[in-house]
Amino acid sequence: MNTSRPNQVAIVTGASRGIGAAVAQRLARDGFAVAINYASGSAQADALVAELTAAGAKAIAVQADVANAEEVRRMFDTVEKQLGQVDVLINNAGVLKTVPLAEHSDALYDQSFDINVRGTFNTLREAATRLNEGGRIVNFSSTTLALNMPGYAIYNATKAAVEAFTHVFAKELRGRNITVNAVAPGPIATSLFLDGKTDEQIQTFAKMPPLQRLGQPEDIASVVSFLAGPDAGWVNGQILRANGGVA
Ligand code: NAP
Repeated sequence: MNTSRPNQVAIVTGASRGIGAAVAQRLARDGFAVAINYASGSAQADALVAELTAAGAKAIAVQADVANAEEVRRMFDTVEKQLGQVDVLINNAGVLKTVPLAEHSDALYDQSFDINVRGTFNTLREAATRLNEGGRIVNFSSTTLALNMPGYAIYNATKAAVEAFTHVFAKELRGRNITVNAVAPGPIATSLFLDGKTDEQIQTFAKMPPLQRLGQPEDIASVVSFLAGPDAGWVNGQILRANGGVA
């Protein structure tokens, strides 16, 4: 276990599976005490806590729907009580349903904006007063924003909002020595990307980047580790597109 960040605390939202779980594993290896947030996947979150604890890390699972401001407040309270004041916030929780704009239901529109946009807003608002000096915030956008593919209008709109938050919030935190950046992954082999696609569709996406493969959650975890660590101290207000060169 690397202890290069002794006593530093990171919250990773949506860390029960997918990219968030890989980010939690990586930050734990980097030496952070990690809070694994989830909405409903308690068994997976608990299993991840057990894995990280067995490897010598400090980790807890915290249930909170990021779309709910009160639950987000409680999540920060719990983390502060159990792990200490937060240094790093990774706003990874998100949902994607690709549906043409004309066929989007009101409910799906609300769910997309509630989780992807309001969820990020809720945690950023708490982080503004609760993050330690020298802290780091990493939001999650998506490379789909640069691809403009049919079916992605609502999802891309949510990620455009996240990018707007990133640029402005980095400036609003002037004087706190906190950086705010976003990572914008290309296609990553998680259930968010794979579910509902045929093998042929998946292969088409896999061939898009010049590196000719789908990204893996660990490809993004290493980028988040960089942005959350000391080497990225002069990177602020930026969107890092980690996508194998697809756009
Ligand atoms: P995923 O495999 O579907 O995992 C999503 C995670 O978010 C799960 O841990 C889920 O927890 C959690 N979550 C969902 N709704 C939540 C809520 N309301 N409150 C708290 N947690 C919630 O997704 P992923 O592929 O890892 O995506 C992670 C992020 O990367 C998202 O922001 C996504 O938009 C972005 N991204 C992904 C790709 C890709 O190709 N995969 C590409 C670009 C950007 P439960 O288990 O409790 O539901």
